[in-house]
Amino acid sequence: MTDISFCRDADRQDPLASLREQFELPNGLIYLDGNSLGPLPRAVKAAVSHCVEQEWGQDLIRSWNQHDWIGLPQSIGHKLGPVLGAAPHQVVCCDSVSVNLFKVLCAALALQPGRSKVLTQIDNFPTDIYMVEGLQQLMGESGCELVTVDASDIESALTDDIAVLMLTHVNFRSGAMHDMQRLTEAAHAAGILVIWDLSHSAGAVPLSLDIWQVDFAVGCGYKYLNGGPGAPAFIYAAERHHAAIQQPLSGWMGHIAPFAFSPEYRPAAGISRFLTGTPNILSMRALDSALDLFDGLSMQTLRDKSVALAQAFLDCWRRYPVLSELTLVSPEDPALRGSQLAFSHPHAYALVQAWIADGVIADFRAPDILRVGFTPLYLGYEDIFNAVQKLADIMASKRYLEERFQQRQLVT
Ligand SMILES: *Cc1c(COP(=O)(O)O)cnc(C)c1O
Repeated sequence: MTDISFCRDADRQDPLASLREQFELPNGLIYLDGNSLGPLPRAVKAAVSHCVEQEWGQDLIRSWNQHDWIGLPQSIGHKLGPVLGAAPHQVVCCDSVSVNLFKVLCAALALQPGRSKVLTQIDNFPTDIYMVEGLQQLMGESGCELVTVDASDIESALTDDIAVLMLTHVNFRSGAMHDMQRLTEAAHAAGILVIWDLSHSAGAVPLSLDIWQVDFAVGCGYKYLNGGPGAPAFIYAAERHHAAIQQPLSGWMGHIAPFAFSPEYRPAAGISRFLTGTPNILSMRALDSALDLFDGLSMQTLRDKSVALAQAFLDCWRRYPVLSELTLVSPEDPALRGSQLAFSHPHAYALVQAWIADGVIADFRAPDILRVGFTPLYLGYEDIFNAVQKLADIMASKRYLEERFQQRQLVT
């Protein structure tokens, strides 16, 4: 029975409860949107302020060496290794997910002579599809051809004319999670390389990229990794591919010796050849510091709490008859979803706005999805109880129909 005393007990027994103190969160606010923008870790404030005042302010250009600014893309990649299940030297931090997808798609296609089809699912995050469309325009269909199918048809579409299977592990709308190991294996059996987008899984669910034999992956720094607005993204490439990787954004930071200023491009050894231009140091410092929260943390412990929080949400949701107006669109089985729940409702947008006005931040995704993200680092069970109670109250009173909750803003 998930009532308030059950939730308080669960909070008292929660091994992760003390981590909440590490975050700067407004009092009284319940934040169910860490899957869109992670909140500010306290340590990040100090790290960024040190970077601005000391490293930039006092040490100036010497900081590239003195504070190893130049090595941040690799050292952040190194910190991400345990979160991703990746042995060292296979992850680098740079650019945005979209740009990284472009580089990784080019690299994967170049490894597949005679094949040009990139298979993905129709309801993938749009930027992932847009990037393939752009590449198709650039290379022509003989170089890159986009093939989209429904999620249920992916496995049967893994035929030996496909070059690359590009999927997002956890769907941004429904939260449905693919079986990465099984799909990667099935793709490999047909000679297909795989690219996984980990934007909604890195920092949320346990990953074993090496063990699952993933070829390439990209992911986001500002969601569950709490790296801050517009935090740089990352790239994973399995070591077995490193020597053969070519990517067309061959900027000087991916050169074997950027400060030799040689007129010919010669790629750096290993994962660093995915770098292009100068790293954005302020953002990297923020992400670098945020990742310390994952140091020594068991991703399985995190996952167990995320599943329990989602279960508590569902249990509370079922207690209120008025909430049956919301339709659960995420899989019921926690093994089949990431760290979020999605519900559909014709007034989902206004419901989210009214919920925010009541101190609960979740988000809306077009056309009709109310999305709730669970981040075990700072959320407690009582938070979940209170959030659902407020939602039930909003629905029972129909407050969400007020005019002020209908105004669509640019960012939803
Ligand atoms: C958030 C997200 C992105 C973000 O891409 P950017 O280029 O970094 O803005 C890409 N793909 C997926 C699946 C995402 O969830």
